[in-house]
Amino acid sequence: MRRPFIAGNWKMNLSRDDSQSLATELAAELSAAPDCDIAVCPPFVYLETVRTALGESCIALGAQNMYPQPSGAFTGETSPTMLLDLGCQYVILGHSERRHILGETDDQIFGKVTSAIAAGLKPIVCVGETLEERQSDQTASVIQQQFEGSISGLDESQFEKVTIAYEPVWAIGTGEVATPDQAEAVHADLRTLIQTRYNTQLADSVRIQYGGSVKPGNVTELMAQPNIDGALVGGASLAADSFLGIVRGALDH
Ligand code: PEP
Repeated sequence: MRRPFIAGNWKMNLSRDDSQSLATELAAELSAAPDCDIAVCPPFVYLETVRTALGESCIALGAQNMYPQPSGAFTGETSPTMLLDLGCQYVILGHSERRHILGETDDQIFGKVTSAIAAGLKPIVCVGETLEERQSDQTASVIQQQFEGSISGLDESQFEKVTIAYEPVWAIGTGEVATPDQAEAVHADLRTLIQTRYNTQLADSVRIQYGGSVKPGNVTELMAQPNIDGALVGGASLAADSFLGIVRGALDH
C-alpha cells in the first residue's frame, strides 16, 4: 500500500511574511499527522523562514530546483548540501517550467536527480506532455522518453528515493485538469515502464503524483484511481484553505 503524498509547489510566489503566515497556519492545522506525507516547496530565499514556521509539524520542506554540484564556482546556484543544511528533505526536479522556459534537458535533470539522491535528498521528478504532443498522440512516447532520459539510468536503490510527478503541461496553471481516466492511463504506463526496467516490487512501491490544476473539488476522484498516489499542487497550495482541502480530499477517497 503506497502512502499518499501531497506536495505544494509555491513557485516564485508570496512574500516572506505571506510564506511565514501560510506555513504557520498549515503547521497549526496539521499538528496531528494525517495518514499522508505532506511537503511544501517555497522559493529558496524563504526556505529558512518556512522551516522555522513549520516547527515540529508533520510537514516536510522541499526546494524547487538545485544545482548538481556540492559547492564551487557556480554563481547564483544552490547545492543539494545547502538545501539539506536548511532542512529540506525533498527537491522538485524537471518541472515543466524548467524544461520549457529554462530549457532544461533530460540529461541535465538526470544529473540533478543522481546528485540529489547522493546527497540524501528525495527528488520529485516531473514528466509531462504539452498540448500539442497530446493532440498528436505522442503522450506515451514523450513520457517514455522523459522517463528514460531523466530517471531510468538510476539503479534500484537510487530509484527507491524517487517520487514521480505526472504533470501534463496543458493542465498546469490553466484550470483544465486531466480527467481521472487520462491521468490514470499515464500513471499506469509509468508503472509498466518501471516494472519493465526494474521489477514489480519497485513498480508497486514508487509513488506517482498527479499535478495540474488540482483543487479540493477534484482531488478525491483523481486519488480514487489505482495508480494515483498523491498530488503536486501549484496555485491551490498558496492558500491554507485550499491546500488543506486537498489534503483532506486526498484522504477521503
Ligand atoms: C505545478 O506547477 O506543479 C502545478 C501543478 O501547478 P497548478 O496546480 O497551478 O496547475
